[in-house]
Amino acid sequence: MKLPSVCPLDCPDTCSLSVTVENARITKVAGSDANPYTASVICNKVARYYPDFVHGKSRLTRPLRRIGPRGSGRFEPIDWDTALDLIHDGFSRAIDEYGPQSVLPFNYAGPHGELAGGSMDRRFFYRMGATMLDRGPLCGGVRGTAYSSLFGPAPGMPPEQAVNSDLVLVWGNNVTVSNLHLMRVLKQVRAAGGQVVVIDPKRIKLAEQCDLFLQIQPGTDVVLALALAAELERRQVLDMAFIDQWVAGADLYLEQARGFGVADVEQACGLTAVQFHMLADWIAAARNMATSLGNGIERGCSGGSGLRAAMALNALMGQHGRPGAGVVAKPGSAFPRTTARLQGDHLKRPGTRVFNIVDVAEKLLDETLDPPVKALMIYNHNPVATHPDQTALLRGLEREDLFIVGADVVMTDSMAYCDVVLPAASHFEYADIYGAYGQTWLQRADPVIPPVGDSLPNTEIFRRLAARFGYDEPEFQDTDQDLMDQAMNGADPRLEGIAPSALPTDRALDMGRRDGAPLIMCDTVLPATPSGRIELFSQDLEQRFGCGVPVYRPAKPDLPFTLISPSSAKRTNTTFGGHADSLGPEQVEMHPEDAERLGLSDGERVRVSNARGAVELVLSVTDATRPGVLYSPKGTWRQSSATGLTVNALIPADLRADIERGAVYNETFVEVRRA
Ligand code: SF4
Repeated sequence: MKLPSVCPLDCPDTCSLSVTVENARITKVAGSDANPYTASVICNKVARYYPDFVHGKSRLTRPLRRIGPRGSGRFEPIDWDTALDLIHDGFSRAIDEYGPQSVLPFNYAGPHGELAGGSMDRRFFYRMGATMLDRGPLCGGVRGTAYSSLFGPAPGMPPEQAVNSDLVLVWGNNVTVSNLHLMRVLKQVRAAGGQVVVIDPKRIKLAEQCDLFLQIQPGTDVVLALALAAELERRQVLDMAFIDQWVAGADLYLEQARGFGVADVEQACGLTAVQFHMLADWIAAARNMATSLGNGIERGCSGGSGLRAAMALNALMGQHGRPGAGVVAKPGSAFPRTTARLQGDHLKRPGTRVFNIVDVAEKLLDETLDPPVKALMIYNHNPVATHPDQTALLRGLEREDLFIVGADVVMTDSMAYCDVVLPAASHFEYADIYGAYGQTWLQRADPVIPPVGDSLPNTEIFRRLAARFGYDEPEFQDTDQDLMDQAMNGADPRLEGIAPSALPTDRALDMGRRDGAPLIMCDTVLPATPSGRIELFSQDLEQRFGCGVPVYRPAKPDLPFTLISPSSAKRTNTTFGGHADSLGPEQVEMHPEDAERLGLSDGERVRVSNARGAVELVLSVTDATRPGVLYSPKGTWRQSSATGLTVNALIPADLRADIERGAVYNETFVEVRRA
């Protein structure tokens, strides 16, 4: 039997799925044509690993109580009532002695269904008065703020609209690994005679099929973008009429840009003057230029500035207001979400303490914190495999005075540290409604199999917790159907009069239109900034972070190599990291010149280290990376390295991006020797 579903993973594409079910077991996951953008194509990792993820030996099927040292993985099964009692006791001990802010939900973006991602859980912790997290700084928050500093909360160009472009800049976006369906669009652009430029520290697959590849030094995107702005001004090709009508702050911006030139691009970015001038030529000549930005740029000390400067090029060149001219970003703003209603924001207590998610390890280890964190609930997240400074986080989780609850679909490195582990249902086992952050198609899915074992959907887990804590307000009585209807504005005409909870499961609805017209910035969509224009100077960012215009903060390497750790073709962040294909040592790519200098050979084990820790990886000698730059895919689990640590142990948590204090994954400096 083939049934429709939707991929819930932390990926911009949010594919529609066709799931083959035999005897209540998933035997095959494939793409479906319900979502016209993803059009029956899905990535290999979901097709290959999801059935094992749902039914494999790591699947959590019963609540567990820890019976061994933290991290040992020794648990005994218990029933749900016992688990709820233990959680009530553990949280109540913390609350009675230190108040509700001593409890911290430690959640991120595991499943992207609106209900599983954040609904009844938020109501529960808001009602409790727990400390909450600002989660954006771990990933995506810098990019989001960079975008909204220029455009406000207005949707950018939906990706499929780039078929109308004759020049596409793919900047810090490894499309084949983490934005798969943009490939089809880019192929159409090139087939129609358009050009695709890839700007990336690694020679990604797309770089071998593009018209110009700029292998930029990590963290220097802002230098290239500012120098391009200055060069285009010098050539007198800026669109002054567009700037007069639609752009604010261009004078201050260009004053900053004039401080950068081709010599900086050569010296800081490691690009040639020929490459720089070729790109400037192409931008000057483009009729419709689209800029597609991935999350790679944000992971540097100048990451927010790099993103803003890259986006500013479209504004300065008048590359908005037409199909195919614009910035491919934030199409998710097009969904008629009613998140405050779904999450019960009115239950939030005034003065709720909020931590930056990247600071959690520091908070757990801070003996002066008042009130201290005494109880933690990890869900929708595998922080041990995701956060910078892994060893600091492990030290925090090892605290014996800390009560830790976890909920997940499978046993993970993080669940191994919990006192009580709850079995969460996979998204194949409950109904949910799906927006997206990389495209504009609204989808809904029903369960395709019953919950495996005693697992429960997140909504029911928190409903039961609320009941156990005596929270009897109506907000905790809502069914999943109620929650779906509270997740989106059912009165939005694009829902065609259908209640969100009744949306068809075999057809996605297009949110990429307004009053029937496609979303086009400075035409059907207006900048939603205080000035009503695209703001190249941000008063907000000036006040909060001292960077009203983009600023270059050069990295300060203290070791010979820069290690970057972008997405893997085998995992979506850390999901599927427990599959056998990911449990062996991960690869690290090194340029042949570096390998020769160090006397290292392809295929041998190397120890990559800095003062924070050491990881064992398998060397891959390739000129896909620059000399001095190492590449190792993120999302591995601890078992994959003989040291019990992953590349995250090498990543600093004290270095932060210029805006939102975002995590800086790509300014990690290491040395390498034979293992
Ligand atoms: S991970 Fe992304 S590309 Fe793969 S199936 Fe899910 S949404 Fe599609």
